[in-house]
Amino acid sequence: MAYESADVVIVGSGMGGGTLAWGLAQRGISTLVLERGDFLPREPENWSPEAVFAERRYKPDEKWLDEQGREFSPGVHYVVGGNSKVYGASLPRFRERDFVETVYPGAISPAWPFSYADIEPYYCDAEALYKVHGKTGEDPSEPWRSREYPYPALAHEPYISATIDRLREFGVHPNSTAMGIDLSPGGSCIRCQTCDGFPCRLGAKSDSETCALGPALAGGNVRLLTGARITRVELEQGRVVALHGTRGGEPLEVRGGSFVLSGGAVNSVALLLGSTSEEAPEGIANSSGLVGRNYMVHNNTHIAAIDPRRINDVVFQKTVAVNDWYNDLGDGYPGGTIQLIGKVQGSMMKTHATRVPRKILDTMAARSVEWVVMAEDTPSPLNRVTVNRDGRIVIAWKRTNYERHEALLGAARRMLKSAGYTAVFEQRFDISMNSHMCGTAVAGTDPAKSVLDPWCRSHDVPNLFIVDSSFFPSSAAQNPALTIAAQALRVAAETDWNKGV
Ligand SMILES: Cc1cc2nc3c(=O)[nH]c(=O)nc-3n(C[C@H](O)[C@H](O)[C@H](O)COP(=O)(O)OP(=O)(O)OC[C@H]3O[C@@H](n4cnc5c(N)ncnc54)[C@H](O)[C@@H]3O)c2cc1C
Repeated sequence: MAYESADVVIVGSGMGGGTLAWGLAQRGISTLVLERGDFLPREPENWSPEAVFAERRYKPDEKWLDEQGREFSPGVHYVVGGNSKVYGASLPRFRERDFVETVYPGAISPAWPFSYADIEPYYCDAEALYKVHGKTGEDPSEPWRSREYPYPALAHEPYISATIDRLREFGVHPNSTAMGIDLSPGGSCIRCQTCDGFPCRLGAKSDSETCALGPALAGGNVRLLTGARITRVELEQGRVVALHGTRGGEPLEVRGGSFVLSGGAVNSVALLLGSTSEEAPEGIANSSGLVGRNYMVHNNTHIAAIDPRRINDVVFQKTVAVNDWYNDLGDGYPGGTIQLIGKVQGSMMKTHATRVPRKILDTMAARSVEWVVMAEDTPSPLNRVTVNRDGRIVIAWKRTNYERHEALLGAARRMLKSAGYTAVFEQRFDISMNSHMCGTAVAGTDPAKSVLDPWCRSHDVPNLFIVDSSFFPSSAAQNPALTIAAQALRVAAETDWNKGV
């Protein structure tokens, strides 16, 4: 048996855990990060579409179950840096409206227990930490900011500039994507084609290992144990006293003052639900019965829009978003965001369109431009994470608020058709495409209606925190990572860590 201890123990080194470790390092707090995975190697396969997408080289073999007991491969990456190692580094802020209640025709998106103004200073800090490039004054939905973007927006390549002109003719206001990459003078980014969805071989993507955990480890107060998988949380008289798991085949026990779960919106709550005891028969921190409930993932569809007359020779495609319909789709209700994604290659299309010959896919890819259409899903207690008798993760999930997504897709189709894209292919996200998972341990002020307080501390267990996307009361309709990072910095700064020690 191996024993470890620290004042603050963090489980998981992704966007939440890695950023929190950085925040604690700034305050000189002795911190131990436990990560079940290892460092993702820098190797030629990082940039191989076949290795990354077809062979799934950086994904675990792990399968989760749906409600009917069918297996699926979830969108998780068990490595130092978590999902941020492969993410698309699109780092927009949520809008002011996302923090207050929104009433949709058939659903409600609840208010957050803090306002945009409360988190705004930490958005600034997170943008600085994650080297966000962007531009103000273009986006009709952009929220106010107290500090300019730390880096200028990425330049558009000629094909994208021409597309922007066509979209403007249609009447929308394309804006620069807020991107976290190291593209400043002397930076290591080479603006390649293998960014979104790929690990960066050069360490030029703003992932949590590169920007937060690495610098935190260099400071001396933070330690990292890789290959340390936590499987049980031990509760005694209302406080967490230890974490139990394995490392290198050996049992591991970790003691500490405060314990932070940052394993991602499914794994963090699975740990709590799986740690039942006489003291916590329904799982730890679950007096509300809400641990695992309100699982959200966004209503997303990937679009490949083809203009047969134009060859898309772009290298770095992800530089534009259209947010004209974010707050109002023209019917008084919010729509969502439409964003360019990384350039999709024929070999990547093959992983979904398995029956279509590669030659046809290459021809299509040469003439297509790819977008994601992202609308808000809303929390439902029936959409939930549970752990079955064999200890396996089960996800009950049905789409919510999907009419808004259909309406936004309709607007996207009209916009693209008017810009000359005669064919539009769509791939709707299914249960396995859950990379934006959130909401399973909702933050709030009422312990009967929420799991965490507004600073991610458990209402039930004072030395237990969950700092990852689990705390989201709503999913908004923007990419989640910057908000996870900003909240991690807020929790680091506004918590009296000595209280838990
Ligand atoms: C392909 C892809 C593209 C994406 N693109 C974007 C984007 O452009 N913009 C954006 O905002 N978001 C994007 N996302 C989503 C973003 O990456 C996630 O929202 C974010 O990383 C979630 O942070 P987290 O801290 O909740 O969890 P994660 O980053 O997933 O971190 C969880 C960590 O905990 C570890 N862990 C889990 N369980 C245990 C355990 N029991 N013991 C020890 N360690 C454990 C895991 O190994 C992992 O390292 C993308 C995701 C994917 C997969």
